[in-house]
Amino acid sequence: MSGWLAVAGLGPGSAGLVTPEVEAALAEATDVIGYGPYVARIEPREGLSLHPSDNRVELERASLALTLAASGRKVVVVSSGDPGVFAMAAAVFEAWEGMPEWRELDIRVLPGITAMLAASARAGAPLGHDFCAINLSDNLKPWSLIERRLRLAAEADFAMAFYNPRSKARPGGFARVLEILREACGPERPILFARAVSTPEEALKVVTLGAARPEMADMRTMVIVGSSRTRLIERARGPVLYTPRWAE
Ligand code: SAH
Repeated sequence: MSGWLAVAGLGPGSAGLVTPEVEAALAEATDVIGYGPYVARIEPREGLSLHPSDNRVELERASLALTLAASGRKVVVVSSGDPGVFAMAAAVFEAWEGMPEWRELDIRVLPGITAMLAASARAGAPLGHDFCAINLSDNLKPWSLIERRLRLAAEADFAMAFYNPRSKARPGGFARVLEILREACGPERPILFARAVSTPEEALKVVTLGAARPEMADMRTMVIVGSSRTRLIERARGPVLYTPRWAE
């Protein structure tokens, strides 16, 4: 079998945050598969077929990738950020698990810079101590589980990084998240809204939970809430948020 399949992360947006390893795989690829806006980030060239698809067809997309790779093609499945974080790598392995005939296929996961790390770097170091990451979309899990994890994470005093905070399909969910956090962490806790990090539309806003409004987030926003130790230092260019590395 000469084909292979790489599941690659394109980083949060800017070309400078794509790893050389991912660039090399894309340069060798015969096929690129992924959600339309991510595939649109790939430079077309002769000999490269682009397969953009809708966001909701992850398993279909994974099966197409496996079929092409098994037929000898060099396939890159692209995700934004890191492919292992709320993205295509797990979908590819889920499809592959049910296909024993493809067990020895050459499959690699090429990491990328996930939105959480790009956002925290812009703001300072809010994830400098223990933290957790939660996907706020209830497409693939019940809302009750999201609420439970939020409360437990707040009780454990983690800093929290939230992906997929708000969409048109779930207008009320994020308002409820803010309510729960205000109740569990108090109104003074800092919260970062980092939108479209590393793209020309990048915008950062740091407020307290008391002043946070649902409209401050959309589907291009990463939300980070500090722990009880997180420090906010004001300066003219915008505040620095950091969580010290120690705890008693
Ligand atoms: N695999 C991706 C995450 C996919 S989930 C990764 O590792 O980054 C999609 C969510 O990621 C978005 O709703 C948003 O919360 C976040 N996100 C992705 N790119 C972003 C960016 N450039 N700036 C801020 N948030 C981003």
